[in-house]
Amino acid sequence: MISDLKKKLPNSYARGLKKIFLYLRGIYYAGNSCDCNICNRKFRKMLPGGFNLPIIGEKEIIGAGTRNHICPNCQSTDRDRFVKLFFDSRPDLLDDKIKILHIAPEPGLYRFLSSFENADYIPAAKYHEGIYYPAEMTLVDLTDMHYSDSEFDIIIANHVLEHIPNDKLALSEMHRTLRKGGIAILQIPYSNNTDSTFENTDLRTVKEREDNYGQFDHVRLYGKDYPKLLESVGFMVKLIRQGDFDPAKVERLKLFPKEILFTAEKTK
Ligand SMILES: [Zn+2]
Repeated sequence: MISDLKKKLPNSYARGLKKIFLYLRGIYYAGNSCDCNICNRKFRKMLPGGFNLPIIGEKEIIGAGTRNHICPNCQSTDRDRFVKLFFDSRPDLLDDKIKILHIAPEPGLYRFLSSFENADYIPAAKYHEGIYYPAEMTLVDLTDMHYSDSEFDIIIANHVLEHIPNDKLALSEMHRTLRKGGIAILQIPYSNNTDSTFENTDLRTVKEREDNYGQFDHVRLYGKDYPKLLESVGFMVKLIRQGDFDPAKVERLKLFPKEILFTAEKTK
C-alpha cells in the first residue's frame, strides 16, 4: 500500500511527507546510546538495515548483512559516518574552493557534502530505465565520463564498483578526472577472509550472483587484493582504519566492525 501511495503522490509531496516522517522518527528514537556525526544528534539506537545471505557470513563480507546502523533522523549508514569521521580528521580536504563528484549519493553523505558553500558539488548516477532522478542529479556513466582531465578535487563512489563489469575502466576514468593531489573514496563490499577477488562472467542469474557475490546485481566479490586494483590505474592507496580514531567515538558512531576506508590519491 505504501508503494501504491508513492506512485500516486506527486514527488514533492512524497519528499515532504518523508521529511516529516524522518523528523518525527528522530525524535522518537532520541536517547544517549549512540551518535550520528552527520545530523549531530544522539539516539537510543540505530535502526536495522541490510539483508542476510549465507555467503555474507561465510566470506565475512565487510559492508553487508543485517545490522542496526541507520540513523533514525538523517538515514546515514555506518559507512557514511565512517566517511564523515575521515573528513573530520582531514579538514584540509574541504577548506578550499573545491569540486566534488559524488556517484550514487547516499542520503547521509549528500546532506553533509551538499552543505558546503565553497564546494561545487555534483551528485551523479548512471541512468537506469524506470528510475526517477531528482533535478539536481547529473547522469554519468563512470566508464565514459563527459568531464575533462583533472576536473575534480574529490570523487566519492561507494558501493558502486561491484556493479560495473569493467571496474578498471571506471577507475581509470576517475583517475583521469581527478586533479593531481585529488582524492577518491571508493568503498566496496569485500571478503575479509579471501585473498583474491572472485569474478565469473558466466554467473548471471539472481541466484548465482546472490550465492557467489552476496547481492543479485553485483558482478564480483572483492577480496583483500582490492587495493592492488586501485594501484593498477595509478592511485596511491591509503588504508584508514577505525583504530586510527578515538575508540569511544568509534563505538558511539556504530561503525561496521573492521571496515577499512579505502582512499585513493592521484599523485602525478
Ligand atoms: Zn543522522
